[in-house]
Amino acid sequence: MSTEYRCSQKWEVFMSEIIRVLSGIRATGKLHFGNFLGAVQNFVKYQEKEGTICLYFIADLHTLTTLDDPEELRKNLIEIVKDYLASGLDPERSIIYTQSSVPEIPELCIYLSMLQPLGELQTIPTFKELIRKFPERVSLGLITYPVLMAADILGPKSFLVPVGEDQVPNVELARDIAKRFNNRYGETFPVPNMMQDMVRVPGLDGQKMGKSESDNAIDINMPLEEIRARYLKKGVTDKNRIRASDPGDPYNGCKSVYSVHELVSEGEIETRKIANACLAAAIGCAQCKDVLVENIGKLLIPFQERRRELAGKDGYVREILHEGGKKARALISETVSEVREKMGIVIY
Ligand code: SF4
Repeated sequence: MSTEYRCSQKWEVFMSEIIRVLSGIRATGKLHFGNFLGAVQNFVKYQEKEGTICLYFIADLHTLTTLDDPEELRKNLIEIVKDYLASGLDPERSIIYTQSSVPEIPELCIYLSMLQPLGELQTIPTFKELIRKFPERVSLGLITYPVLMAADILGPKSFLVPVGEDQVPNVELARDIAKRFNNRYGETFPVPNMMQDMVRVPGLDGQKMGKSESDNAIDINMPLEEIRARYLKKGVTDKNRIRASDPGDPYNGCKSVYSVHELVSEGEIETRKIANACLAAAIGCAQCKDVLVENIGKLLIPFQERRRELAGKDGYVREILHEGGKKARALISETVSEVREKMGIVIY
């Protein structure tokens, strides 16, 4: 995979101008610990950087490709926003909105679809993955999903798009569409970059959390004791470590525990202590999982407290989405006016 467009630079490189950061999530279910650690914590860091405009949206239109229960969609959406807020996203510093609150996004999707060959869409890995998972749901909406995603990205003229590795092909397509549009109609869109610091969090089975069809995720609202029980029962450790007296291989053998230690344990020294104890058989896997869950608790307990305060505050969440929708719409409608003008569309 080409990495020429990946931003390996640090933030300081971009600080000479205001940059727009955008990311979205489908409302298919609740956030899990992988989303929290791998994505949302980064979103919070981006909003704290001077010189950024952060846009975080709930992709309710994209959700319709695989979910047709309206009640569930509406409920998931509110719950995800509560998770965002409890994680530290601040509606004063980030624009939080739903995709459907900006009707110019599907309009832009139609314009961009005129520049996108159909054949290419059918070869995108995410499309193939979705038809493997949902063969009965191969709709036109599913095929055009990446073009709608390009509209999500290009509508606010995003410069940085933090996404997980599974969404990389879709951002590549958005980059191609931006270049095609600029070539045909003149410089309009910045070609979006991806940040490399999205973290891949392993689930209990060692696969990406929430990725496999198996029950491998940790619910961020789960009590710590349940998280401990799940790690003890399901967490995959070094399979060659049969007895506690056998030395383990934390780096290559331990599929679901050590790499999470690296993400949540405080500092390199603490993580190295765990690795050395494992290599020397000075710690058992149950004790090691115990330490891990304690460290997960340091992140999740404050989150869960804030989350409880938001229970029953659906009206407040709707207000945030309403205000966020207005701000996002103001930015995106400006782009869409420019696109209409360049393509020759006149609204009489
Ligand atoms: S001691 Fe910890 S790092 Fe080593 S195999 Fe067991 S769970 Fe994994």
